[in-house]
Amino acid sequence: MSFNFSAASIFLFCSSAFCGWLAAYALMQRRSAFSRNFVALMLFSALYALGYGLELASPDLALIKAALRLQYAGIPFLPLAWVGLAWSYLDSRGLPRVWWRTLLALSTLIFLIHQSNDLHHLYYAELAFSRHGDLSITHTSKGPAYWLTIAYLNIGFGAGVLLFFRAWRQSKAIYHHQARCLLIGSSFPWLCHLAYQFGLSPGQIDLGPFGLAASGLLFAIASFRHGILDVLPMARDMVFDGIAEGVIVIDDQGRVVDFNRAANGFFPELGHHSIGLTRNELEDASPLSRILATPGPFECPLTFDGQTRHLEIRRYRMRDRGGRAVGNALLIEDITEKKALIEQLHQTAATDELTGVFNRRHLMALSQRAVQLAQRHQSRLSVIIVDIDHFKAVNDIQGHLAGDAQLKKIASLFRARLRATDILGRYGGDEFIITLAETDAQQAQELAHKLNQSCREECGTTLSLGVAELQAPMLDFNALLGKADEALYRAKASGRNQVAIHVPATSVELDP
Ligand code: GH3
Ligand code: MG
Repeated sequence: MSFNFSAASIFLFCSSAFCGWLAAYALMQRRSAFSRNFVALMLFSALYALGYGLELASPDLALIKAALRLQYAGIPFLPLAWVGLAWSYLDSRGLPRVWWRTLLALSTLIFLIHQSNDLHHLYYAELAFSRHGDLSITHTSKGPAYWLTIAYLNIGFGAGVLLFFRAWRQSKAIYHHQARCLLIGSSFPWLCHLAYQFGLSPGQIDLGPFGLAASGLLFAIASFRHGILDVLPMARDMVFDGIAEGVIVIDDQGRVVDFNRAANGFFPELGHHSIGLTRNELEDASPLSRILATPGPFECPLTFDGQTRHLEIRRYRMRDRGGRAVGNALLIEDITEKKALIEQLHQTAATDELTGVFNRRHLMALSQRAVQLAQRHQSRLSVIIVDIDHFKAVNDIQGHLAGDAQLKKIASLFRARLRATDILGRYGGDEFIITLAETDAQQAQELAHKLNQSCREECGTTLSLGVAELQAPMLDFNALLGKADEALYRAKASGRNQVAIHVPATSVELDP
């Protein structure tokens, strides 16, 4: 007798080929726990469908037994692949090893028991078949191993459906479609299996392989349309929610599509209710709606528990695989510490370490800028250059540390007597420079006198000071400083402890 291929058998062969093709397709995709489990599930389903197609077409009991063995190369392993698949959708690391081993051991045990049934009849006590039209329907009296397998299959399928249900409940709005597809797909084999178990299937045909092929089809749709095999949303979510930067995704209509945990931390008003809302539908004056509206990269101070934090917001255009713009991702970074550090670095780079006033480089840069401003606005500007008298002697007699202390004291004395807009810096050694905006030579000279007097009284040391005012032909701060330096030289030469002023004509006024 030869095989009798009915429509059901041919349909099962097609299902088997389809599952095999899906397995091959998944194999070519990115290797992830999900795709590995999918490959396994589709291969076991293909064996099941192929074996069952042959069983229905088999003319005698020997061939039916062979077909059953072929099916049982797949069936016992279905719960393993099924639970593994559902688990890896939730957790990209896949099923915990101990579970994997336990399920593999159980599947292998059932496989071995089935293959060796003729020796012990633990699976089928008896096996017979009858012809129904062009179908061979197998009748069995079931042994304990059969019921163990049924329990195992039901628990496996049930657990898979529950895991997919959990994934669907937890999924973010943009993955909802995919998760729903998987949830529906996952319930088919179990429902078909239950229908068969309770005798509800037409003609006592086991609908399991059809259910598996149908779920393979739905998984394929999820795969093609939503990219499940190459991008696992749950794994993505772990990264998305794990990073410290806040991310808010908005579509091209300006609606909030998604946001991560960090974004929610920055903006507690964000919630599931915000999904689908536009900026205008959010509270209008809120910082969040401002952020959604502002195009370029920008900084935004926000107060958290009475503390001001600085957020930096950058906007990235998002494109789909075809390169079509689909929306924007706003990346929100808390830059408070970075900002403070940069500020500190700037300050360190600008400050004289010993005295705390501006260092030479910064002093020169600020003074040059002040000169340009004065020239542009035709306002007055003067500079005082100060050199401590006989400072070497302080070092020589009292030591270098005492000299340092003296320098610090004089610098803070200067600072205390200057306006906030005056620029005070250490030019080098025991020389200081003071740049005074909106100040003429006379006012600068008066200030120089006061500084010398205070220094004499409070620090017990005298100063020589040169004063110069910015005049029309001078081009830059260096030129002005040269004039003040000339005046200082004269003050030193004339006996120290005095202020000399540069007068544009050749005269130099000495003013003890
Ligand atoms: P003069 O009245 O001509 O200015 O005499 P002076 O002794 O002050 O001589 P001058 O200004 O040429 O020398 C400055 C001295 O300041 C030289 C150096 O020993 C001392 N000095 C420079 N930098 C420092 C410093 O950072 N700490 C200390 N303690 N001394 C310094
Ligand atoms: Mg000196």
